Amino acid sequence: MATILVTGGAGYVGSHCAMALANAGHRVVVYDNLCNGHREFAKWGPFAEGDIRDRARLGALFAEHKPDAVLHCAALIEVGESVKDPARFWDNNVVGALVLLEAMRAADCRAFVFSSTCATYGAPLRLPMNEEHPQNPLSPYGWTKLAIEQASRDYAAAYGLKFAHLRYFNAAGAAPGEGIGERHEPETHAIPLALFALLGKREGFKIFGDDYETRDGTCLRDYVHVLDLADAHVRAIERLLGGGASLAANLGAGDGVTVRELLAAIERVTGRAVPATMAPRRAGDAPALVADNSLARRELAWRPGRGVDAIIADAWAWHSGK
Ligand code: UDP
Repeated sequence: MATILVTGGAGYVGSHCAMALANAGHRVVVYDNLCNGHREFAKWGPFAEGDIRDRARLGALFAEHKPDAVLHCAALIEVGESVKDPARFWDNNVVGALVLLEAMRAADCRAFVFSSTCATYGAPLRLPMNEEHPQNPLSPYGWTKLAIEQASRDYAAAYGLKFAHLRYFNAAGAAPGEGIGERHEPETHAIPLALFALLGKREGFKIFGDDYETRDGTCLRDYVHVLDLADAHVRAIERLLGGGASLAANLGAGDGVTVRELLAAIERVTGRAVPATMAPRRAGDAPALVADNSLARRELAWRPGRGVDAIIADAWAWHSGK
């Protein structure tokens, strides 16, 4: 059993990871400033409200709980916001991560598992994308995540930190039985928005572009269940704490679904047709993103077992309250 500090542990991915870590027998401490997190999502160990940029607060937290590893999920994540207000993203995400890395160094805590993203790759040069794909982000959000990857790489080389950079593709799904799921404000993601249209919370669902070079003209994405993501985080933490080497790994299902296929799957799973209309392309969307997940399969023995139907069923149960 180890003690894991989960920053952003009251958020979407962080809360599922905290649950999975607790279920694996670890002690979880959640640290979250609740700017986007939800207090009621942090229920698998002690909760401390605070900001990752607060050096004194972090110092006290490390002294009190003596974490063996940090799972760093706290971040601003909305790509469009990052374009409008990059200063906020660089300050929160990058300054925050540097303060956190310094607190780890001072406390001699040497295992850093980081919520990274396929957005660090930018426009795909080839599909599926493996970890060797050039990293050339298209948004300030992606750049802040890449900067943190690089900072922790440098800390690893100089100070003996070990890192796992986990590059998520499209996180989706929920753990409805545990009372946690996706709740972003504002919501911009395809699956919740399509389900909101079914629930009458939105007028309808807009398909952003049908003239892409994909099999039906709509964007293709690699949706991965948040519980599969959480499982990979547990594996990554245990690898680092067990003396394993640092790594950067894609976390995606390894295949893609178009927006139209997603809507068809929603109809199949819920028995209801999403009222959808065509809309122009959304700025910055890549036509297709698919992970080559063979490194995570090999190095973490990770098997993302939950497909799109399971993702939608859990997301539907979560959003519809069923
Ligand atoms: N999308 C859409 N309508 C929406 C929201 C998203 O057609 O209201 C499309 C979007 O263009 C993308 C896919 O759904 O191709 C997934 O978008 P999401 O925002 O969920 O994730 P992203 O891939 O942008 O991180």
